[in-house]
Amino acid sequence: MSEWARGLAVITDEIRDWLEAIRVALGAETACLWGVEAERLVLYLSCPEGAEESVPADVAMKGHALSWVVTEGVTLRASRADVFRGGDDGWILAAPVGAPGGERVACAMLDFAHAPGAHAHRALELAANLAGRLIGDAKAALEARSDLEKNEALYGAVHDLDRKLDLDSLTRGICSRARQVAGARGAAVALWDATVGAGRIVAIDGSMDERLIQARVEGDASFLGLALANSTPLPRDRLTARERLPLYAEGLKSSAGSAIITPMLLDLEPEPIGALAVEFELPRQFNDADVKRLTALARFVAPAVRNAAQFGEVQALSLTDALTGLSNRRATERAMTSTIAVAERSDSPFAVGVLDVDHFKQFNDSYGHDAGDRVLQAVARVIRDSLRPGDVAGRWGGEEFLVVLPSTGLEDAAHVVERIRKSVEATDVLWDGRSLSVTMSAGVSAYPEVVRNAAGVVTSADAALYRAKRGGRNLVALAAWPQHT
Ligand code: GH3
Ligand code: MG
Ligand code: MG
Repeated sequence: MSEWARGLAVITDEIRDWLEAIRVALGAETACLWGVEAERLVLYLSCPEGAEESVPADVAMKGHALSWVVTEGVTLRASRADVFRGGDDGWILAAPVGAPGGERVACAMLDFAHAPGAHAHRALELAANLAGRLIGDAKAALEARSDLEKNEALYGAVHDLDRKLDLDSLTRGICSRARQVAGARGAAVALWDATVGAGRIVAIDGSMDERLIQARVEGDASFLGLALANSTPLPRDRLTARERLPLYAEGLKSSAGSAIITPMLLDLEPEPIGALAVEFELPRQFNDADVKRLTALARFVAPAVRNAAQFGEVQALSLTDALTGLSNRRATERAMTSTIAVAERSDSPFAVGVLDVDHFKQFNDSYGHDAGDRVLQAVARVIRDSLRPGDVAGRWGGEEFLVVLPSTGLEDAAHVVERIRKSVEATDVLWDGRSLSVTMSAGVSAYPEVVRNAAGVVTSADAALYRAKRGGRNLVALAAWPQHT
């Protein structure tokens, strides 16, 4: 629905009364109001009751006599057969409806059985002018109300966005606020990396293509990229299918009729941290307030986005083992805690494997600490590649690793860990012209199959590891079953 039609919707009853009064006064058979929507004339109103059956619900404007009424602003007087090809006898009188001095967005049409006189022509013109003014006023009132709502959304954002530290939920919150602030059908947030001149869309809201999430945005290769690379707001009043650039990212078509993109700028920094984009169904003429509101929102959220991005990096670092890239002890303990909580709450099984490099000390002693480090990295790679999404691999101690396998029983876990043992055995770690052969021993236990107390699973896997070591190493041992700890 066009902006203007929304104005009409507020005073539909009044306009219907007006149309009916004109029809009766001028002695017309039927009266109706056509609105312009996306190159078509769409029937908005008709009277008396049942009149809508005698006219098409919409007509393509191209080449249609009625379209001249709105494109040229002329009042049309023609035979019914000329206006609606193949129509029956009768006469059509149609006048443009629009705001005074503004664009003509609708057409009032009367249908007569006999040719109307000149007075009818003039009377319809005057009445159509009046209707245009009324609808224009209703639209202005509607805009004022919607401006008020948008401003309230902007103030609301100040309260609920700046405290979020999780980047994901912050950017999603920004999208949803941006949509309200702009009254848009969809919104997206992209983060920008000035050092490589590219960014990534990290959040969307509303009716937006899901493929946009994580889409790469190259500077200058899309309108979003342009706004980011040039650090400037970019309102696009009218987007067509033949744009020279895509709206967001290469290869991703957008059906939006218009959009506003504003960079998220930090004080004293020339490069934006990212950008905010909102899109609309139809082309629309943006005013200063539309762009300003969104720019204000982008400026306001920029520091929060920066904080959350940095917090996320620090948090990821604090949970990652620097040498191997696996979860560190703290993160692994956290994963254990939540696995235990889920298992006990929902009565679901899980298994744990403790893996330890055999005679690791020898690598350090014979080839130096760096060689030992390289061995640990190689082993970590094997472990990571052997697990499926949802499993956790962590560095539990020096050369000891823990794998946590949710929803897995003892036998399946034993297979997984045995696969790791074999892969490690088959891996050659090249060091200083030599190939170092590495083996691991492991202990595996499972809840509730082996251990009824979820918190005791690691201890039980540890005990099994001890048996594997005593049994000659390069072995996987299963925890003794059953243990009622
Ligand atoms: P076993 O087969 O019984 O497990 O013998 P092991 O030599 O592997 O076990 P031990 O516990 O005697 O030795 C572990 C060594 O790992 C001791 C320690 O100096 C070394 N270590 C611990 N952390 C690191 C590390 O980050 N890098 C290197 N290079 N060595 C480490
Ligand atoms: Mg060891
Ligand atoms: Mg050890």
